[in-house]
Amino acid sequence: MLHRTRLIVLGRQGAGKGTQCARLAARLSVPHVSTGDLFRAEAADGTEIGRRAAAYLDAGALVPDDLVLDLVAGRLGGPDARALGYLLDGFPRTLAQGQALFEVLGSGAADIAVELHVPTSVVLPRLAARRVCQDCGANSRAGPGDPDVTKCDQCGGTVTRRTDDTDEAIHRRLATYDRESRPLLDWLDDRDLLVRVDGVGDPDVVHQRLLDAVRNRIPAIDDV
Ligand code: ADP
Ligand code: ZN
Repeated sequence: MLHRTRLIVLGRQGAGKGTQCARLAARLSVPHVSTGDLFRAEAADGTEIGRRAAAYLDAGALVPDDLVLDLVAGRLGGPDARALGYLLDGFPRTLAQGQALFEVLGSGAADIAVELHVPTSVVLPRLAARRVCQDCGANSRAGPGDPDVTKCDQCGGTVTRRTDDTDEAIHRRLATYDRESRPLLDWLDDRDLLVRVDGVGDPDVVHQRLLDAVRNRIPAIDDV
């Protein structure tokens, strides 16, 4: 019998959340639901939601809750999420979003939430060096003096900075995380739903730490 797994992963920008979530979701065979990726895809496709969200994305500001909730409801209503559960990456990120999630889906909305923790001194250089392929989405890291636009190792596509990885938008996003996500983290902690994981180190080691942190909360994890 299939167990539905419901995980929330939180972490400030540059914590390695996207990479770790993709690996964890694959390992647990659960859909990876990244609101940032979903918004970028909607914006690239020029959909109604994408058009309304684009200005917020570029400025590094939070998209208004009604749009976010529409997007998430649509995704979590899909057949894969209904059958298998979900790994939420980038949602909820405010207390209001967290409360809305639990109001709509009940107390089983999440088995556990994990905060991937990385200090500011580590995330700032990571974000400045982060590059992403416009075609396949692969993340890479620019070296000192590398040009802003390069060719993708994986697919030959165009690799650039994310439009919200400008210095100004990075600072705004980090400040927003501290302001908006702290109350959510405290709220989850009060409900005994939060574990913190050290995000500094080799990606394989961090992956193992994440698995260990969620293991005893997730029935389906015994065999991984
Ligand atoms: P980051 O965490 O580095 O900001 P994401 O890819 O998670 O990157 O999100 C990119 C942008 O998408 C955010 O700056 C915001 O504009 C929008 N976004 C994503 N998730 C949410 C959310 N839960 N609430 C509001 N806006 C969101
Ligand atoms: Zn590529």
